[in-house]
This record gives sequence, C-alpha cells and structure tokens, in this order.
Amino acid sequence: MSKRRIKKVAVIGSGIMGSGIACHFANIGADVLLLDIVPRELIDVEKAKGLTLNDKVVRNRLVNDSLKSALKSKPSPIYHQKFADRITTGNLEDDIAKVKDVDWIIEVVVERLDIKKIVFENLDKHRTPGTLITSNTSGIPIKFMSEGRSEDFQKHFCGTHFFNPARYLKLFEIIPGPKTSNEVLEFLNEYGEKFLGKTSVVAKDTPAFIGNRIGIFGIQSLFHQVKKLGLTVEEVDKLTGPVIGRPKSATFRTVDVVGLDTLVHVANGIYENCPNDEAHELFKLPEFINTMMENKWLGSKTGQGFYKKV
Ligand code: NAD
Repeated sequence: MSKRRIKKVAVIGSGIMGSGIACHFANIGADVLLLDIVPRELIDVEKAKGLTLNDKVVRNRLVNDSLKSALKSKPSPIYHQKFADRITTGNLEDDIAKVKDVDWIIEVVVERLDIKKIVFENLDKHRTPGTLITSNTSGIPIKFMSEGRSEDFQKHFCGTHFFNPARYLKLFEIIPGPKTSNEVLEFLNEYGEKFLGKTSVVAKDTPAFIGNRIGIFGIQSLFHQVKKLGLTVEEVDKLTGPVIGRPKSATFRTVDVVGLDTLVHVANGIYENCPNDEAHELFKLPEFINTMMENKWLGSKTGQGFYKKV
C-alpha cells in the first residue's frame, strides 16, 4: 500500500450524503472539515432573533443543521456526539483555504456539472499538491469535471461514489478519470476495504457508472409501468419492500430518501449521454415526475415526496 495516511478529510457539501460521509469518517477516527455554501436568505427563527446573513450562526446553518439530522437519524447504533466533535463545520466562502491542511477532499455538492466545476476550480487554487480530491457524483462523467484543472489535480482526482446511507451500504465505486494515477486508485481501493469497511469496485467512466445505471434503469422502468398499469405508491412499496427481503428499501420510500432532484439529474444525464442505448426512451422522465419537481416534492429533504414526512 502507498505511504498515504488519511488523518483529515474535507467534505464539501453537507446535504444528505455529505453529512453522512462526514459522520462515517469521524466514526473511523479521522478529523473532518465539513463545508457548505452560505445561506442566501434568513429563515423565520433567525429573523425573529434579529440575526443577519453575516452572523456566524447563519453562515454555518446549512452544515450545522445537516450534521444534527445525520447524528439523529435512526437507527443510529454508531453515530454519537463524541464522534461529531471530530467534525469542524464552516462555510465554503470563508473557510476554503483550510483545505490546504487535509489529506483528502471529497466533493458532495448538488448533482450539477456547472456547480461542481466551479467548486473544483476554487478547490484547485487552495489544495496542497498531492492531496486526494474526489467526487461523490452519482453519474456525471468524471472526465467532464476534471477538464481544465491542473495536472496535479487530474492525477489525484477520481470518483468515489458512496451509496445512501453512507454508513450502511457497502458498495464503494471508484471511477478513474483520464489521468488518475495508479497510486491513487490502488490506495483508494485498499482504503475503502480496510478502513471504510466497504466493498471497493472500480467502474469505468460511463454515464451513471455501474450501480446507478442499473438502479435508475429499474426505477425508471417502474415509473413507466406504474403509469401504464395504474398502480399506487402503496401497492408498489408493499410488493418491493420487506416481503421480498428488502426491509428498508421499498421503491418509492427509497426515492424519497435519495431525493427526487438527484434521481432526475442522474436519469437526465443518462438520457443525454447515451443516445444510442437501446433503452434510451426509458430514461426519459414521465410527466408526473416533472410535476413533482415543479412542486418541490423532492422527498425527505423538503418534507414531501411520494410520502409526506412525519
Ligand atoms: P443534497 O441536495 O442533500 O445536498 C447538496 C448540498 O450541496 C446542499 O447542502 C447544498 O447546500 C450544497 N451546495 C449547493 N450548491 C453548492 C455550492 N455551490 N457549493 C457548495 N455546496 C453547495 O444532495 P445529496 O443527496 O447529498 O447529493 C450530493 C452528491 O452526492 C450529488 O452529487 C449526488 O448525486 C451524490 N449522491 C447522492 C446520493 C443520494 O442518495 N442522495 C447517493 C450517492 C451519491
């Protein structure tokens, strides 16, 4: 194994996946710097307290709230406040220079190439050469994200795809970019297995890689069938959950946990990038999904998806 050591990790983006990944690293003993963007608007409680957008508590709201909910999430046999103490939170705008001190930067921001490219451009200016830098993208081609970045960045960059929830699901896809060094790939492969407790699989840089190409195919097929056969959400989940040995992953529940926006970005990515795929039309979103997106029924993160959050 290479001589790399992972003592400190920066996780950029503190949503569903970023906060879970941060907790997972803290649990295995790493220090974590967890950063997100600065909120653009005050929420009612902040207004009532007379806070402004410049107050630290507001600037760090996104990271702190996500972390709290990751720590609270059930079942939670391993996450604990004592692990959270290894996590330092902050916002990207104020704290980006701190990434110079970490051994691995993991980007976990929204599934949009335009946003990820800007984040990487800024990180490239601040990271120390030689630092690992990876993306948790669900399906954006790795080569698109590394385009235009420094040679050192490209050598140390690849996809590291954790599955949701990051602490339980074992699959850890590693997706090389055009210039990723063998040392980086070998290190991540071994680190994933030995330290993260995952099963590492190296996947080619094809749209949505392996897990999600198959997963989205299944979900999209179901979306189209549901419409055709007039099935209800409850009927589908009854048939695709515990009764077939999937205690926590009935289909529509899973979509709510993942976040409809993320799923839509991945399905659209496959649709755009695989015009010759024999299942091409299947990756086109049915109208009811577009309606849900317009209404912001994105799942647990907005309180309403196929189910209402209670
Ligand atoms: P999310 O919507 O829960 O969180 C995204 C976070 O990115 C938010 O906290 C948001 O504030 C932040 N963000 C937005 N713009 C930003 C910017 N310019 N700079 C910094 N932060 C910014 O999304 P998520 O589900 O955590 O997904 C994050 C990434 O992980 C995506 O690439 C997604 O495809 C991938 N992923 C998601 C899942 C899943 O099940 N949700 C699983 C595996 C991989």
